[in-house]
Amino acid sequence: MKWTLHCSVCGSKDHPADALTCASCGIWGILEVEASGLGPDQNALGMERYLPMLPIPEGAALPAILVGNTPVCEAPRLADKLGLSRLRLKDEGRNPSGSLKDRASWMGAVHAQGRTVACASTGNAASSLAVMCATLGEKAVIFVPERAPAPKIAQLQVFGARVFRVKGSYDDAYELCAQAIDHFGWYPRSAAINPYMVEGKKTCGLELGEIEAADWVAISVGDGCTVAGIWKGLVEMHQLGILSRLPRILGVQALRAKAVYKEWRGKGDAGPARPPRHALARTMADSISVGIPRNWRRAVRAIDESGGRMVCVSDAAIQEAMRQCARLGGVYAEPAAAAAVAGLADVEVEGSAIAVVSGSGLKDVAGAQKAGGAPTDVPADLGALLERMNA
Ligand SMILES: *Cc1c(COP(=O)(O)O)cnc(C)c1O
Ligand SMILES: [Zn+2]
Repeated sequence: MKWTLHCSVCGSKDHPADALTCASCGIWGILEVEASGLGPDQNALGMERYLPMLPIPEGAALPAILVGNTPVCEAPRLADKLGLSRLRLKDEGRNPSGSLKDRASWMGAVHAQGRTVACASTGNAASSLAVMCATLGEKAVIFVPERAPAPKIAQLQVFGARVFRVKGSYDDAYELCAQAIDHFGWYPRSAAINPYMVEGKKTCGLELGEIEAADWVAISVGDGCTVAGIWKGLVEMHQLGILSRLPRILGVQALRAKAVYKEWRGKGDAGPARPPRHALARTMADSISVGIPRNWRRAVRAIDESGGRMVCVSDAAIQEAMRQCARLGGVYAEPAAAAAVAGLADVEVEGSAIAVVSGSGLKDVAGAQKAGGAPTDVPADLGALLERMNA
């Protein structure tokens, strides 16, 4: 597919294909891919199904593993509970590394074309990058905040990434990573500035565009790249006439990391060169625990364009949604993924909905333990069992 890049801030066009941000706007001038692609390749699955709609460098090697093509399951009991006429769960936890981030990392690794790839990540972008780089024989350098869940770190160590655990928050890890990328000339996978990452996440929206339309699509929001990408995919499928009507987007943030929400409400103070901030962002939903969301502009625009809205949910509501998602929907969600369901529970949403369950519960065992509680200890003795059964 042929494509061009334009600046999301000043609108300037004709940036070189390897530019990451706008030369006149600087690092906040995030670029967007513009193209008129063909429809999906009916004979392929996953990312490769959408090759005709993706900006891929000529001759680039592709990962040999299946990314995307995640199942959409009906959740009638959860729909009843939430007062929806129909609810479907898009189970992104079924991606190779267990989250939707695989779609973006697939693009990152393909665009790196053999170079070392670096990213800062709360965990999922990192582990997915480690997987994709492994398939292509590329080196991955990862910066994670010190609070990143152990299962995520373990995953990337096993896949052979070079991992730096940064003392501080995600935002500190991001800053160090950006400096290191400048210094070493690594290829940046950071969704915040790399315009091709949104194109990867777009494929989730393209897949949603191939199934029956819903009134709402609920998506959790951290940096904002995911919601922007999924919306772009839905719009492209609608333009092609494959998706009959566009849904409204429900963007869900955590109460304790709601910088994008504040901008959407018009209560923020972000400017062209100043992103919104949520000081001391700290929610159990680590994947959306973002204090300085770089993609807030595109996120807010996507939600507004769709006629949708945003909502914030508490950690308690997220834990409740983890249980509901599992017990009523059969899907094991990590906290940030359950946040989408918590959002649907929190607001009056009428009609049918799809919740994007963005990552697997296996990603965050401590979070799952909080939501699930502890088992009952018992000696290997029937009398003792009976006692505890009645307790
Ligand atoms: C990254 C991530 C999100 C949010 O995506 P953003 O692009 O940061 O808004 C949501 N859920 C999971 C599981 C993620 O890994
Ligand atoms: Zn610009």
